[in-house]
Amino acid sequence: MIRISQLANSVQPSATMAAGAKARQMKAAGIRVYDFSLGEPDFPTPAHICQAAQKAMANGQTHYTPAGGIAELKKVIQKWYQQRYGFSFLPEQVFVSNGAKHSIHNALAAFCNPGDEVIIPTPYWVSYSDLVQMTGAVPVLVPTDPQNLFKITPAQLQKAITPKTRLFMINSPSNPTGTVYFREELMALAQVILKTEVAVLSDEIYEQLTYGEAQPTCFATLHPDLPARTITISGASKSYAMTGWRMGWTIATKAFIQAMDNIQSQETGCPSSISQHALIAALDGPQECVAEMKKEFEKRREIVCNLMGKIPGISFKIPEGAFYLFFDITALYGKTVGGIEIRDSVSFCKFALEVANVNLVPGAAFGMDGFARMSYATSTNEIEAGIAQLGKFLAN
Ligand code: PMP
Ligand code: GLU
Repeated sequence: MIRISQLANSVQPSATMAAGAKARQMKAAGIRVYDFSLGEPDFPTPAHICQAAQKAMANGQTHYTPAGGIAELKKVIQKWYQQRYGFSFLPEQVFVSNGAKHSIHNALAAFCNPGDEVIIPTPYWVSYSDLVQMTGAVPVLVPTDPQNLFKITPAQLQKAITPKTRLFMINSPSNPTGTVYFREELMALAQVILKTEVAVLSDEIYEQLTYGEAQPTCFATLHPDLPARTITISGASKSYAMTGWRMGWTIATKAFIQAMDNIQSQETGCPSSISQHALIAALDGPQECVAEMKKEFEKRREIVCNLMGKIPGISFKIPEGAFYLFFDITALYGKTVGGIEIRDSVSFCKFALEVANVNLVPGAAFGMDGFARMSYATSTNEIEAGIAQLGKFLAN
């Protein structure tokens, strides 16, 4: 008999991936869905990146690579951080994997022991809590204040630290809230951390997508003592529209990267050779494509905020990064639309999908009920039509 392990039984499917799959199914069945579920840029991968992959294939670069990635790519990643943040490290401190999600999983597997406590500001990106639990460690969820733009404060962080705390996970710009911490705010959190033995996992995958005055910060560069205790994660999925290429990376200490390397060598062997060559072209090639996509996201952000702001019962603060709007729906509680009573984020999203054909992700999936997430990584037409649908049904 094929049985299912306790580990597998304890894992929830990723709510964002499940919502994306649901939209695909409905579309295949001929149903018109306005899909705002997945955080996946709708742009094609820029042509010069695709050409680099084609060239890699033509040149026979289609074999296994070293477990943690090819030397040429590690050099490009080094150069990128040096130029962008003045952050220097050795090639042995770089690790490439099949997406940032894989890097996070691998890093947690290399770091956590059963019973360790990992502090996660809430709302958090769906996979954090499950990935921590898969290692036997304990996610310690710290609810943040929407009025404080969902930013964990130094006092909240301090209070959450116990003798069992080993890791603090931070994500700025944030999924699902779009919040971008100011440098000074991260510095204040770093001051709390530096008084302890706690390490930091900083997920910076949306670093190139900040709007207006907001600026990204590379957490490890905030203090000379931080590189020794910070695991920096990023990836190409969001900024370069490369979700399907599965390219992510980690920067940490040499010994830790070696541990991640060992795990990856047993687990997947290495990341895709072709995608690694594409990533070289992405990071080392022309960057205008990123600027253009960012400009378009910024434009969509304005449209989304403008239109959603007109729907009575929905409230939010304007997000400064990534491509999500995380909005408060509690004022709609008690309302019944199309036979569905809105009483939490799940029933709200059920109404949105089944009545208005608008696909969103409930705040509960990110650890914070009372909110829903709208990804605006989709066309302006879709945004306008989908929000009009929501507004129409909520007005009735
Ligand atoms: N971190 C965050 C905060 C994300 O939103 C995502 C989105 N998928 C990831 C990591 C993982 O991205 P990927 O595995 O596609 O690199
Ligand atoms: N990160 C994206 C999201 O939150 C993609 C889906 C996923 O990897 O979970 O929608």
